Amino acid sequence: MLSITVVYDNHKCASGLTPRWGFSCFLVVKAHGDARRLLFDTGGDGATLLENMQKLGVDVKSVDAVVISHAHGDHTGGLHAVLEKNPFATVYSPSKFRLRAVEKEVKFIIVEERTELFNAVYSTGALGGFIKEQALVIQTEKGNVVITGCAHPGIVKILKVVKKGFGDVYLVLGGFHMPKSGVSEEFKQLGVVKVAPCHCTGIAASKELETAFGSNFLKCGVGARIQM
Ligand SMILES: [Zn+2]
Ligand SMILES: [Zn+2]
Repeated sequence: MLSITVVYDNHKCASGLTPRWGFSCFLVVKAHGDARRLLFDTGGDGATLLENMQKLGVDVKSVDAVVISHAHGDHTGGLHAVLEKNPFATVYSPSKFRLRAVEKEVKFIIVEERTELFNAVYSTGALGGFIKEQALVIQTEKGNVVITGCAHPGIVKILKVVKKGFGDVYLVLGGFHMPKSGVSEEFKQLGVVKVAPCHCTGIAASKELETAFGSNFLKCGVGARIQM
């Protein structure tokens, strides 16, 4: 079982929440008798993140692990606030970045290669050149779910890595970083079933994906919830 709640994004899917530039989603993964709660990225601002989480009924103290996609402020900005409330969460990042005092006590793991973080939950490992970025792959009964932060290495490149290493992609959710036109065709060739673009995907690519995927295009932004 997988549930995804988008707790921080510059797009809004539900009233009463604050949209702001950045991305974060909360995942509950139940697999092989194991239940894990993960925060993927932390948005740009801690106060906004914690407020949105609270309004969405997500307990920051329940988070087992924080997975940072890449070391840009709109994905790491809320980490300090999360760790202040929950210093027991393990942090997985593809690169080192400046930590504030409280964070020096936490378990901080650099992920370089493809890694199984928990049952059915994998990091692709650090992809890309100058900006190292990891994506998450969650194996569900429906197929592989891919969560991306900004997709700086290229969303199609990330999906090719996933397809090669894990098999077909059922759903891809997150920031796709303004892919060029024709991206929907490339997604279809890769066998992607559902798409939920948000954050830095851009209007043109979002519109193209919405037209191409129809009812398999899921509206994404802060407040979006997906269960499978
Ligand atoms: Zn970025
Ligand atoms: Zn970003």
